[in-house]
Amino acid sequence: MRLYTHPACLQHDPGLGHPESPARLRAVLEALDDPRFAQLERVEAPRATREQLLRVHEPAYVESIYNNAPETGSLRLDPDTVMSPASLEAAERAAGAVCAAVDAVLADQTARAFCAVRPPGHHATPDAAMGFCIFNGIATGAAHALETHGLGRVAILDPDVHHGNGTQDIFRREPRVLYLSSHQMPLYPGTGARNERGLGNVVNAPLPPLAGSREFRAAWDEILFPALEDFRPQLLLVSAGFDAHRLDPLAQLQVGAEDYAWITRRLCDLADAHAQGRVVSVLEGGYSLEALRESVAAHVAELMKTAST
Ligand SMILES: [Zn+2]
Repeated sequence: MRLYTHPACLQHDPGLGHPESPARLRAVLEALDDPRFAQLERVEAPRATREQLLRVHEPAYVESIYNNAPETGSLRLDPDTVMSPASLEAAERAAGAVCAAVDAVLADQTARAFCAVRPPGHHATPDAAMGFCIFNGIATGAAHALETHGLGRVAILDPDVHHGNGTQDIFRREPRVLYLSSHQMPLYPGTGARNERGLGNVVNAPLPPLAGSREFRAAWDEILFPALEDFRPQLLLVSAGFDAHRLDPLAQLQVGAEDYAWITRRLCDLADAHAQGRVVSVLEGGYSLEALRESVAAHVAELMKTAST
């Protein structure tokens, strides 16, 4: 199994006191710097190309990010999303990691990959930065799988506590992509109601504040995984946000690391059954460093287990 990351992702600085801090990725990398993860094959994340980004973002938006990226100081893209001088490269590499990981699993170089990158991506829409996100990395990777590798069925699983409005927006009229999300509602960004179905390729399972392990697992077991089985995906992509954890300061769900191990085991079983085991997981949210450490370790440990163990 491969681990994609890049030092530039540690340099993206949204400012003092911002919850999406470089300390998050440091915590993730520290958690994976443990003997039980010694077998991870560490790979430097490449930059996404403009061609890759333009499959999911409007040309005017991509140009504005490249043209306005600050050389000093900072640029506020929306109330929550800030670019520092290192942010453009970080965002390019965060999206490029997913494309490279997709290439690797589809070339059978590895069955699974985890992209330890930031900024996150799932709120970024075709034409706007939003909610800490600049480029939508998971969407860029999904579009890459469709257009470069000719896949016809790519599933995106999004257990981040926030609804991935950007990913839903990008693919709501794309029947080759199935988008599945569990998230707290009400919560930022306010989308993700059950009746948002796209062409039938979008399935949302909103959860009320304070819902915990039982409700989280039921949403996946009763609503989201059955939709995934029906779709018979050729590739699974995971928007791996760990902010549904009970320690997370930005939301009120009560999920624990054992639930992240559970969902990972289940999705790997489904990948083994339908998609030759192929899973590419990408870090999205998660704002408690303690929760991130234990949840990422649980997630990656399950991803590393092969079908036979
Ligand atoms: Zn989130």
